[in-house]
Amino acid sequence: MSDESGRSHGRLKISASRRPSALMQETPVLHDAWEARIVTLFPEVFPGVLGASLTGRALKDGLWRCEAIDLRAFGEGRHRNVDDTPAGGGAGMVLRADIVERAIAHAQRGVTFERAEWPLVYLSPRGRPFEQATARRWSRARGVTLLCGRFEGVDQRVLDEYAIEEVSLGDFVLTGGEIAAQAMLDATVRLLPNVVGNATSLDDESFSDGLLEAPHYTRPASWKGRDIPDVLTSGDHGRVAAWRREQAEALTQARRPDLWAAYQAKKGSSQT
Ligand code: SAH
Repeated sequence: MSDESGRSHGRLKISASRRPSALMQETPVLHDAWEARIVTLFPEVFPGVLGASLTGRALKDGLWRCEAIDLRAFGEGRHRNVDDTPAGGGAGMVLRADIVERAIAHAQRGVTFERAEWPLVYLSPRGRPFEQATARRWSRARGVTLLCGRFEGVDQRVLDEYAIEEVSLGDFVLTGGEIAAQAMLDATVRLLPNVVGNATSLDDESFSDGLLEAPHYTRPASWKGRDIPDVLTSGDHGRVAAWRREQAEALTQARRPDLWAAYQAKKGSSQT
């Protein structure tokens, strides 16, 4: 219905006819949408890179939700202090347990205590490594709450009190948990139903079967004297699949002896 037809019927009718189109412009919020709640001193950096491309489209479509909770809002005094000097001395500052607790309590409102359904995580270089299996586990939950540290980290007591799981992005030290949170959310959100258009592409990629992915090629067929491997243009799907598996195995063996050993152990046990 156009605005014009509404106008000719007076005020009440205008708002009635405008309503549906106004609603269409809002982000549709699906009742059961997967949800990320992030406790951070930098809420303005969310959704950040997750607002782009496939994860961004999915966010706009209401397939998942992202709520950044400002830790500073729970701070104390005029300056909303959230940290203090480390007990026992040493450099840097530590986020206070009582302040973090308030932010966590706010983040967890309406959330189940069942951690399988809603993981509660502190991003930390001391945590268990985040892996594709972690992304899979989180994507099957209803949502996650992620606590981003800053400075030297968080008072241990709040982690112990709430049995907060520690997860690491890798063996390096970032200045804060925000980049780790976005990386982990990206890996998780793309596994949610309908986020990645072609779901079969998820089956072939690195780690899905314990192997790194085979190399990709596209046009032009010849570039700087380098040709696309013949088998890929042969049209023989069986040979293509066999070639990709050989490549995946060779790459994994050369680059990731840890994955290769696990893959062989799994293959061995599934054959007996
Ligand atoms: N003193 C700490 C490092 C603090 S870095 C230590 O040596 O373990 C500040 C914050 O950045 C941490 O609280 C954590 O939330 C985040 N961070 C740093 N490196 C990370 C990593 N590899 N994975 C996940 N989070 C990380």
